[in-house]
Order: sequence, then structure tokens, then C-alpha cells
Amino acid sequence: APVIGVLALQGDVREHLAALAATGAEARTVRRPEELGSVAGLVIPGGESTTMSKLAALFGLLEPLRARVRDGLPVYGTCAGMIMLADKILDPRSGQETIGGIDMIVRRNAFGRQNESFEAAVAVAGVDGGPVEGVFIRAPWVESVGAEVEVLAEHGGHVVAVRQGNALATSFHPELTGDHRLHRLFGEMVRDSG
Ligand code: GLN
Repeated sequence: APVIGVLALQGDVREHLAALAATGAEARTVRRPEELGSVAGLVIPGGESTTMSKLAALFGLLEPLRARVRDGLPVYGTCAGMIMLADKILDPRSGQETIGGIDMIVRRNAFGRQNESFEAAVAVAGVDGGPVEGVFIRAPWVESVGAEVEVLAEHGGHVVAVRQGNALATSFHPELTGDHRLHRLFGEMVRDSG
């Protein structure tokens, strides 16, 4: 099986490793640029995108990540990982950089204080077998997308899952549920690109 990396600078790395393993994928952490070279796909976990961005710059990973994503490396970002894959974020914290790869504008912490964390059933295009259990934690939503971006799911009138080519992103955290269908979909993207 192709090796799928999980960017392990910050965030819920273990949960993604476990979810990937449950789908039969070989998963390993990626912290250094050299480790990036040996994976066929990369998951960017949930966490705190400002911290993740700073650490990626500090570890010399930002440019290598951008280069590999540009070259078509399959990537899947959840929550903070979605923010990292956005070409643009609304009111970024000063100096917050993203990897980019999806032509979208993302709003951080978009659902507001009353709804900081919640769960909702989310129907995702391309995922069979009924809606997934969407766990939203201070989640972003997608404010707008470019023509190349496929909207896979909405919640409350807001876009919460997208795909552009080999890049997949969700506002919510499938890795925190026992439902591995999105990780399986990502595994298929990795296999198809190989
Ligand atoms: N609010 C966080 C951010 O802006 C994302 C939260 C999450 O990943 N659960 O990075």
C-alpha cells in the first residue's frame, strides 16, 4: 500500500494515523522536509492553524509543502488543515501563511461563539452510505470557491467540504469519529494518483 503521511507539527495527528490505519493504509508522521519526499499522500490535521503555520515555517516545511502540493501530491486537510490548504484566508492573524492548493477563501472560527463546537449529519458528495457525522470544533467554513473547486458538502448554507484535483478539505473532523469513509476516499485518491 502507498504510504500516507500525517503532518505532525501540531494537532490531532494520532487520530488521523489511527483512522488511516483502520482503512488499511500505511501511515506515518511527517515533520521534516526529507520525510515529505517518501509519502504518496499527506493529511494535514485539525488543530490551530496559526501555530501550524509558524511551525511549518520554522521547520523549513512551508516551501517544500507548497512545491509538492503544486506538483499534485494528494492532500487532505481537516479543520485547521483546511485553512492550511486555502489559497486565501479572511482576516489572517498577522503573518499567518498557508500552503494553499485549493482556490478558495476560508473564514476561520466561522460558526461563531454560540456554535463553537457541535455535531451535525453532513451529506458529502462521493461518500456513499448516508451522511457522515460532522464534528465541528471552532471550525472554518469556505466563504467562496474558484471555478475549479468542487463543493462536496454544505451545512447551514455554508460550504464545509471541497475538492480541487488531488486536494480534499473538510471543516469537520472525521478522524474523531469511528466513520472512516473520508479517509477511505482519500486513500483512493492517493492510489489513483500513483
Ligand atoms: N480554529 C482553528 C484554527 O483557526 C481550527 C480548529 C480545529 O482545527 N478544530 O486553526
